[in-house]
Amino acid sequence: MFLLAVHEGVMIKKKYLLSPGPTPIPEGVLKAAAQPIMHHRTEEFSAILLETTEGIKDIFQTENDAFILTSSGSGAMEAAVVNALSPGDLAITINGGKFGGRWSEICHAYGVNVHEISLDWGEDFPKHRLAEELEAHPEAKAVFSTLTETSTGTVFDIQGYGELISETRSILVVDGISGIGATPCPMDEWNIDVLISGSQKSFMTPPGLAYISFSPKAWQFVDKSSLPKFYFDAKAAKKSLERKTTPWTPSISLIIQQKEALRIIENIGLENLIAHHRILGNATRAGVEALGLELLSKRPANILTAVKIPAKIDGIRLLKAMQDKYNVYVAGAQEPHKGEFIRIAHLGYMGGFDVITALSALEMSLSDLHYKVPEGASIKAAQNILKENWE
Ligand SMILES: *Cc1c(COP(=O)(O)O)cnc(C)c1O
Repeated sequence: MFLLAVHEGVMIKKKYLLSPGPTPIPEGVLKAAAQPIMHHRTEEFSAILLETTEGIKDIFQTENDAFILTSSGSGAMEAAVVNALSPGDLAITINGGKFGGRWSEICHAYGVNVHEISLDWGEDFPKHRLAEELEAHPEAKAVFSTLTETSTGTVFDIQGYGELISETRSILVVDGISGIGATPCPMDEWNIDVLISGSQKSFMTPPGLAYISFSPKAWQFVDKSSLPKFYFDAKAAKKSLERKTTPWTPSISLIIQQKEALRIIENIGLENLIAHHRILGNATRAGVEALGLELLSKRPANILTAVKIPAKIDGIRLLKAMQDKYNVYVAGAQEPHKGEFIRIAHLGYMGGFDVITALSALEMSLSDLHYKVPEGASIKAAQNILKENWE
């Protein structure tokens, strides 16, 4: 058992949160939550709301309005569907995993017709295949994609999709909940019509806030949309923001925390932050490959590395060893692939030594299960990449 310290006879086990959301929170952001609560209909809070909204726009790289919703990320997904579409519309959804599949589920729940492109987990969906789909379904009102599919660690070609869809009458809706801040996704430059994200992944803030922005083309859809909506009504959000407020009581403390996290992100610089995640991804992948293990994704993302569990090993037991014995909280695979792979996250407030921690726990857990790997090989491979890039 690893002990961080023994205090008055109580053993304190240090936990290492290396899951792809929620992610660790910087100390300054934690502290920002400890302020006395203020009222939200005040000039003081309006200034905070506007500053935070501007910060989100900067990270989205957009001139469009952005809205802060008090909900988890899925709330922004629902907001995208109910504000952009009408009953009976056809939506093309790209389902490369758990979260891509959620687009289809939300559309179904609201009576939107769905043409789902169902991919194997980890499979890529290149631009030319979308071109074929658009040609076969010219009546599609919207294409729903995921920037980085968090269930598989795959990044999709949003730039390519945007090039195609901007030439049509459809809109491109992108779930950037885990990817924004860790991987390039300039909303305006890439012709994204609806972009969403959330507070608890790369935005270095606790769960509870979601972000959404609509392009001018998407606002035309919003004007025509007749799906039922109330809490997530984008027009109400827009009207309120013009008055420097929100339609409902927002999560005041979380917005204050997000403001602080955005200050940190701005100091680092978005480009630097993306480069940082790329290096963490490269180091993790090199480490995994040095153990002779296979990656799940054909187009790996910067946010996490999904590692296939060798057939000889019980994947549930491996994850249990990493989580319960070594206190390293990497994520397992979600249904229907439970036990088939693990997901080592490297997004948000994570650094080079988090990668080393995860790889070390992986090696030790594999060894516990009597699976032979070249001991220390993953650490060495990851260290080489980290050293080359350390500044
Ligand atoms: C985490 C995540 C979601 C779901 O967000 P919640 O905050 O759990 O509602 C959706 N899409 C992606 C890509 C995610 O990573």
